[in-house]
Amino acid sequence: MIFHNPAGAPELACEQCGCRWFDRINDTCYECGTKVSAESVAEFNLAVERFRARESARGDAVPGAAADRAVR
Ligand SMILES: [Zn+2]
Repeated sequence: MIFHNPAGAPELACEQCGCRWFDRINDTCYECGTKVSAESVAEFNLAVERFRARESARGDAVPGAAADRAVR
């Protein structure tokens, strides 16, 4: 199950209880212990890639402004 936060970023959520907290080491839900399916993870990773692509496309208007400031 994939949710999108107000910023449009995807968030992986438990198929069983809908909670968004996972044990990243064991890939299980913190709430109910349901194992996260490989399909869900793959779907989520795709959603993240699409989101990042969209973000960087939008960021091109001000190329690397924030990053530049952080370096100097
Ligand atoms: Zn759960």
